[in-house]
Amino acid sequence: MIEKDFINDAEIWDILENAKNPEPQEIREIFAKSLEKVRLEPEETAKLLQLEDPELIEEMYSLARKIKEDVYGNRIVFFAPLYIGNKCVNNCLYCGFRKDNHLTKRRTLTMEELKEEVRILESHGHKRLILVYGEHPDYDADFMVKTIETVYNTKFGRGEIRRVNINAAPMTVEDYKKLKEIGIGTFQIFQETYHHKTYERLHPKGTLKHDYLWRLYGLDRAMEAGIDDVGIGALFGLYDWKFEVMGLLYHTIHLEETFGGIGPHTISFPRLEPALNTPYVENSSYKVSDEDFKKLVAIIRLSVPYTGMILTARESPEIRREVIPLGVSQIDAGSRIGIGGYKEAERGYIPEKEQFHLGDIRSLDEVIREICEMGCIPSFCTAGYRAGRTGDHFMALAKPGFVHKFCMPNAILTFKEYLLDYASPETRKVGEIAINKELEKFERTDPERKQLILNKLALIEEGQRDVYV
Ligand code: SAM
Ligand code: SF4
Repeated sequence: MIEKDFINDAEIWDILENAKNPEPQEIREIFAKSLEKVRLEPEETAKLLQLEDPELIEEMYSLARKIKEDVYGNRIVFFAPLYIGNKCVNNCLYCGFRKDNHLTKRRTLTMEELKEEVRILESHGHKRLILVYGEHPDYDADFMVKTIETVYNTKFGRGEIRRVNINAAPMTVEDYKKLKEIGIGTFQIFQETYHHKTYERLHPKGTLKHDYLWRLYGLDRAMEAGIDDVGIGALFGLYDWKFEVMGLLYHTIHLEETFGGIGPHTISFPRLEPALNTPYVENSSYKVSDEDFKKLVAIIRLSVPYTGMILTARESPEIRREVIPLGVSQIDAGSRIGIGGYKEAERGYIPEKEQFHLGDIRSLDEVIREICEMGCIPSFCTAGYRAGRTGDHFMALAKPGFVHKFCMPNAILTFKEYLLDYASPETRKVGEIAINKELEKFERTDPERKQLILNKLALIEEGQRDVYV
């Protein structure tokens, strides 16, 4: 494959410059296009990024909420990160795991320890994990396959992990194929920053991660290897946030153009967090304010209406409450990001083994309850890829009613399992009310579907598990 650099820094800055002071009429036309669920062009997204009129910004937030509701319904998919090992050959200036950080204790989970972590996560009710690895010869594709197999084979009571996603360094097509064979969900790679000079400075020469294009094309190789769901992301706070949103959009367009209209499955937009012995973070001049963070979430929602958006527990509960309705489709909860962090969770933070500090360390049960109180339905659904419906965002685009027919019923069914098997009495009460509200909606719009869901719910009540449509 010829790797043409599709990120042109000067062009992005030109487009942003030309988009300054947009006319309200232009903005309204862009809003109308988003409402039709059409992906925006860079010039259009740039105008949203340069928007400063408070009234139009409020309108943009309302629109983001509406698009989220139209495309995803009120489901929020839950997952948990699981850190496998923090050895790393790279020296990313912002990361607590960087090679030269001698205060970080290096550790890799043994298979026994991994099983223990998985059992704990299962005992909380998790069904979807993202496994996270440093970049190190110890963590080659064969090792990763072994860890993935171990996760799938570890069952605890009624618990099991049904979807393993991966966040790791870019690989070769041959190596991706090994992961594809064992069965993974999404493969995520964050470009960190799309700005070339900043990228090269933060990923020093002589390290593997220094190679911008190898990383930029990392997900192309994954798709070539047959992994249908890939996740892109930028680490906000390394460079200008407007530039990074443009980078994410160009990356999306590139994947769509290369793979017959199928863009990224998810977009992540983590903000830089303090990490042990990592002064770069405190000194960064590009930190993103809460106000700008809110804007960027809404602008991503409007720019790529069909792509899943992931908000992590790096953010505080307050921020999560505020931005989830603006377009987020997946969150993690009850998360620990130290190696062996779930077992040691009772001790709170274990900074010497963590990559960075988490903003939201509430339990899964607590977050689930809050999500219900916000009028949403938590989902642990993993049916999509196991039923061969990969690229389900694409299916949603291609087939009207897809979300209503499959995703919403499966959200209800997997949530019911959670309520019966893991929820506290208080959460169960709030959760049952939320399910009933959804069933009432089905009663009004599609009574046949409602009956189907009721039949499946009865099976779950009788003790069957992994029931989906
Ligand atoms: N080592 C692999 C890599 O760098 O691609 C994958 C795992 S790395 C542990 C996962 C992500 O954590 C990185 O892609 C980066 O965006 C994010 N990260 C690193 N340092 C961070 C920090 N201080 N605050 C927030 N996120 C950070
Ligand atoms: Fe290593 Fe990833 Fe951290 Fe960079 S971000 S130092 S590659 S773990």
